[in-house]
Amino acid sequence: MLTVLESLKLSTQFLEKKGIESARMNAELLLAHILQCQRLDLYLRFNQPLNKSETNIYREYITRRANFEPYQYIIGEVEFYGLIFFVDKNVLIPRQETEILIETIIEIFPKEEELKIFDIGTGSGNIPISLAINLPESKIISIDISSEALIVADKNRELHDLKSRVGLMKSNILTDSFEKYNNTFDIIVSNPPYVNKTEFGTLQREITEFEPDIAVTDFDDGLKFYREISSKSKMLLKESGILFLEVGEGQAEDVKEIMLKNGFTNIKIKNDYLEINRVVFGVKEK
Ligand code: GLN
Repeated sequence: MLTVLESLKLSTQFLEKKGIESARMNAELLLAHILQCQRLDLYLRFNQPLNKSETNIYREYITRRANFEPYQYIIGEVEFYGLIFFVDKNVLIPRQETEILIETIIEIFPKEEELKIFDIGTGSGNIPISLAINLPESKIISIDISSEALIVADKNRELHDLKSRVGLMKSNILTDSFEKYNNTFDIIVSNPPYVNKTEFGTLQREITEFEPDIAVTDFDDGLKFYREISSKSKMLLKESGILFLEVGEGQAEDVKEIMLKNGFTNIKIKNDYLEINRVVFGVKEK
């Protein structure tokens, strides 16, 4: 039987050979999940032997990872804004930079305000759930085009006990009309598919082979959703309501332009941890 340390070494070598980045960290994360401990706790357990079933599961996980499946899909969960979310292949894996979107909104609005929020393309539901927890009087409607994604979002809504404040609706922002919600929302938020058609092919295999393509790219110039969301938000926001958009690298100025054309004012841009323009937000003109 192999010990924790021996298993880690072998798995790391194997993942490296297959071309997986951060092989050791991936080997550790997967084993920690099986042993139900923190990654760093493995260092206290180097000499512990793995039993047969642990070894079998670990072998399966490492094989999947070597095949470029993201470790978050293998373990079925991810941490976002300090909260746990279930994920599977039907939803985009929540990214650290999307936390900036949450932070930006929470900084602007007081906790006790009864906000109405509309979230477009919810995926795992990471955005509405993080907002609902940090803005405890808010009510949120989230839409997604994918029924499979909505199942995941629903599980997360249940996990965080937010059924009463987070509504989930199957809907297509490009084609559906939301007239009954005209002048309803204080906040509209979205992290839409923003990778353009050409760039999509150049992304890591983890993304192109495993994440839902409709969550990543618009199969167009990367700006399609910003045009549609900006024009619809103008109707759906209350007077002085704010539209918050996550953008891809290099898109902030284009998105700002689109928002200006749609009558938004006071447009601001916020950077992420890598100093990349990441969030563009602006106020609906009076
Ligand atoms: N709202 C989810 C997120 O930010 C999903 C976004 C998407 O699928 N494009 O992670």
